[in-house]
Amino acid sequence: MERKRFLGSLSLLAVLVVGLLVPGCAKPAPEAEVLVPPYVESQSVTINPGKTALIIVDCQNDFLKLGGKLGPSDEAGADYCAEVVSHIKVLSDKCRVANMPIIYTQDYHQPNDPEFAIWPPHCLVGTSGQEEVPELTPQTGDYVLLKGGKTVSYDCFYASYKPNEMESELKSLGVDTVIVTGTVSNICVYCAVVGCAQRGYKTIVPRNCIASLTPAGERLALSQFSSLYAVTVTESDKITFK
Ligand SMILES: [Zn+2]
Repeated sequence: MERKRFLGSLSLLAVLVVGLLVPGCAKPAPEAEVLVPPYVESQSVTINPGKTALIIVDCQNDFLKLGGKLGPSDEAGADYCAEVVSHIKVLSDKCRVANMPIIYTQDYHQPNDPEFAIWPPHCLVGTSGQEEVPELTPQTGDYVLLKGGKTVSYDCFYASYKPNEMESELKSLGVDTVIVTGTVSNICVYCAVVGCAQRGYKTIVPRNCIASLTPAGERLALSQFSSLYAVTVTESDKITFK
């Protein structure tokens, strides 16, 4: 009986693996747990600072601080968010020294924002929750793009208040490469990464500089970046500036 169950498990694994390898539609497994294809991680990435912009997605108090409207629910979550922020801070300092442009995106919601049909109210205009976390406060010369007013305002290419704002800013900077950081890995970061990649920018995601709600969400995002969009997944200390 045990052997039968073991063989049954093996068959299931085989079905899952084959499902991952064969490029075609497959009926989803009924089990709660499924395998996510691994992503490729680059051990060394060299960028030209003159042609690269850093994008910091939604690093606002309401998302990353304890007590934030959609923030971490406990100390462990807060520590995780703080660690991600510290990695972004180190990277952004390096970018500033190299005179690289930095683009911030921020949720910026009015009290009646349509997105609140899905999420509790957050990042309300005029509140401290809407503000960037203090560690990453934008500086003179940085660009801040505000998102809101749409059914969902995840996508900085779609949900900016000024039409085509992200496209215009990237174009005016004359960059061909972007490094995308911030939160949440499989929501607003995902949209920014896919938006950049689809528009032909060489896109780099340092995985220690993105924050996720769940490990599964992050793993899925990284897998999609790597396998579908030719995004370079790495860690921030593996990026060197030429
Ligand atoms: Zn929002």
